[in-house]
Amino acid sequence: MTEAIHDSKKGQEDDRFGGPKLDAGLYLVATPIGNLRDITLRALDILSSTDLILAEDTRHSRRLLDRYGISTPMRPYHEHNADKVRASVLEGLEQGQAIALISDAGTPLISDPGFKLGRAVADAGLPIIPIPGPSAVLSALCVSGLPTDKFFYAGFPPPKTIARQKFFNGLTSVPATLIFFESPNRVLASLSDMMQVFGERPAVLARELTKIHETIVRSPMSELIDQLKDQKIRGECVLLLGPPETSGPVLSDAQIDQALRAAMAQSGVKAAAREVSQMCGLPVRQLYARALDLRAKPS
Ligand code: SAM
Repeated sequence: MTEAIHDSKKGQEDDRFGGPKLDAGLYLVATPIGNLRDITLRALDILSSTDLILAEDTRHSRRLLDRYGISTPMRPYHEHNADKVRASVLEGLEQGQAIALISDAGTPLISDPGFKLGRAVADAGLPIIPIPGPSAVLSALCVSGLPTDKFFYAGFPPPKTIARQKFFNGLTSVPATLIFFESPNRVLASLSDMMQVFGERPAVLARELTKIHETIVRSPMSELIDQLKDQKIRGECVLLLGPPETSGPVLSDAQIDQALRAAMAQSGVKAAAREVSQMCGLPVRQLYARALDLRAKPS
């Protein structure tokens, strides 16, 4: 009986966060993307035991640390002070410190500060330890219903239309599900540009994941645009597009030109581009540009 009580106390001790002194190194700790309970026990252990926590926004992260009674000193690490802080972090690591890096949400370094720090630590031959956990990219992908065997995370599209269309143009032939972060007030503009550049594809808007207003809308891109065009989109958003259709035959450039010419003999340039796009899966926009070239210099 005494032993049983002793054991249960021991169990409680084990459940407290913290533990033995950590080995020196930079610990990249993922934190929740909404629901504060989405933090791993190991992340809490590490955050309780490091000498220092580097946080993108210390006031924001204080809420999380207070929730779990963690009082480890924090220091800001963001794009404006990164160059200055990096040198002192390297020094701390060389002196044997354990330092954690967290961002406002999710996995640090993924569209969040830390890449240059991680690279500098790696270049200096010092340890970097991943403490995995929440990620808006992977959470959105998993619930999207889109293929998960190959995916391409492309970050935030540029905010201005011309740069954004150019950015999308570089992704048209990536044979994978595409994942983008987007600010809510640019979702519609981005989707319209995607429609122009990629043509119709299955699309998904994953919004406010793990939060009260979590919403996942799966739809062909044109229908998603119709659905969203009269709505005020709020909250944090991930946009996903299905991979290009590969069921069509792979056509050579000469075959594409021939198909475009044949189609243009029957219809206008736009309709021809659309028709050939359906045949070979290339984006309408790309075929439209080629069709205009062909029309300008007939064979
Ligand atoms: N490093 C983070 C991660 O691993 O999830 C992402 C940081 S990035 C600066 C912030 C963007 O992630 C948001 O603008 C949004 O696109 C996406 N995001 C973050 N939390 C989200 C959530 N709960 N639901 C949907 N998207 C989210």
